Amino acid sequence: MRPLTLVLGDQLSLDLPSLVGLPDGGVVALCEVAAEGTYVAHHPQKIALFLSAMRHFAESLRKRGVKVHYSALDDADNTHDLLDEAERLAGLYDCDEIRVVRPGEWRLLEEIQARANAPLPWRMIEDDRFFTTPADFAAWAQGKKQLRLEYFYREQRKRTGLLMEGNHPAGGKWNYDHDNREPLAKDAVFPAPPSHRRDAITDDVLRLVAEQFGDHFGTLDGFNWPVTRRQALVDLGHFIEHSLPDFGRFQDAISDAEPWLYHSRLSAALNIGLLSPHEVCEAAEEAWQNGAAPLNSVEGFIRQILGWREYVRGLYWTRMPDYKRGNRLNAGRGLPSCYWSGDTELRCLKRAIEMTRDNAYAHHIQRLMVTGNFALLCGVAPEALCDWYLAVYADASEWVELPNTLGMVLHADGGLMGSKPYCASGKYIDRMSDHCRHCRYDPKQVTGTRACPLNSLYWHFLERHADTLSTNPRMKLIYGSLSRMSDEKRNAMHQQAEAFLASLDFAPAYGRGGQH
Ligand code: FAD
Repeated sequence: MRPLTLVLGDQLSLDLPSLVGLPDGGVVALCEVAAEGTYVAHHPQKIALFLSAMRHFAESLRKRGVKVHYSALDDADNTHDLLDEAERLAGLYDCDEIRVVRPGEWRLLEEIQARANAPLPWRMIEDDRFFTTPADFAAWAQGKKQLRLEYFYREQRKRTGLLMEGNHPAGGKWNYDHDNREPLAKDAVFPAPPSHRRDAITDDVLRLVAEQFGDHFGTLDGFNWPVTRRQALVDLGHFIEHSLPDFGRFQDAISDAEPWLYHSRLSAALNIGLLSPHEVCEAAEEAWQNGAAPLNSVEGFIRQILGWREYVRGLYWTRMPDYKRGNRLNAGRGLPSCYWSGDTELRCLKRAIEMTRDNAYAHHIQRLMVTGNFALLCGVAPEALCDWYLAVYADASEWVELPNTLGMVLHADGGLMGSKPYCASGKYIDRMSDHCRHCRYDPKQVTGTRACPLNSLYWHFLERHADTLSTNPRMKLIYGSLSRMSDEKRNAMHQQAEAFLASLDFAPAYGRGGQH
């Protein structure tokens, strides 16, 4: 047996199942191909992260005595298609099989499966770097009408024993969300992330990316993503020591000035395989056991990884490919041009887009309640918004981006993921952030020239979707308020929202959804 083991850009783990017990004579291939860099216009920092981390990973394999073929972007005979390239290399090394761990995208899985009758067999290996396999999730989901995170998460806690005292949750409660909703403290001091040294590999990659992908949205200047396991471990240690203690309380807060707050910035390292979710959760649990971080923070953090991260992956693999076609609210607008330019007078939106441009990062509440909420209220089509999220964040892989955007933000899966849309008016932004102080709009006004556009858009959204949403038990209260408003007030709000929508520069409409 002489296999070619193809390692994908998000599989950079030394204990990847396809790398364990490599047969003698086998070759490991890592391939940079243009098609993967451009199927959406990825943020330059995201491309640089992948390329630099792949090149460093190839070096660590070589140091361990593994025979590695690395196809670089500028290799003259690179076919620039991932599977074609693997087949070319398999021919070059006279291999009799290509082995690959399950990819993170349905698109690639389908392409590999379509090779079933190719002259050289492709063998797919299950990815064991998660707490659950897609089959585990499917077994849990079977026969359930609603797939609520909370129940999945409790099962995960029981299965892994994380934060468990015997059969009971540590501290007596499964959930400390109630303690985790504080807006930003005025005198808060935020730990600066560690700065990583750029070596020759990263410098070369940054030059190459600037040359080849410099026209994509986003700057390269602040590139500081961990590109080796060692750097990722530094980030993990730094987070546990400096940010985890306050992570919980301020988990939902938004700042006009600070991009990272007490968030871990670990998603990119986790998603490309430099860290394992197990070690990250264990490090957080240990901090609680040692008295270095409170339970509300540690539980809130572990819930994100053991709960949400695994849950969205399970949902993705059990519901694709139909999931991607969901558009329950029949949203059909293209993306407003300000998502690329940052050119908007809504301070919250402007800052989220600017931080995204500068860092290839925005924290969860910015993604959900700022750029997400605005698109939801405007009726942006799922495809348009998903393409944007997939392109602009360093941590974006479809298995995690799609359920969050299509399901959690846009409610386009009809409530599979969330029992109600996370729609919000300017009041929410004002409560959780300091943006409104810097904004020309007033979050307390609904109509008039200074009114925050989110307010009229919020009511416009509720009116538009009354047929679908007013019977939702969790939305009865808000629809009650709407129905008690005078016709005159409703009319004025409607006009205000329509005028604002007319002032936006939407990209051409997307396929299936209707215009409003
Ligand atoms: P922290 O706030 O420190 O959280 C810790 C870890 O928990 C993260 O590193 C991440 O691995 C995990 N996590 C937290 N929330 C989620 C979630 N909802 N789903 C899955 N994992 C979660 N995350 C991605 O990794 N890739 C994406 O492409 C992505 N797209 C998103 C799109 C939208 C519209 C939304 C609302 C969320 C998206 N998320 C995505 C989830 C979340 O926003 C990011 O994981 C988080 O902001 C990353 O920053 P952090 O590492 O500082 O996270």
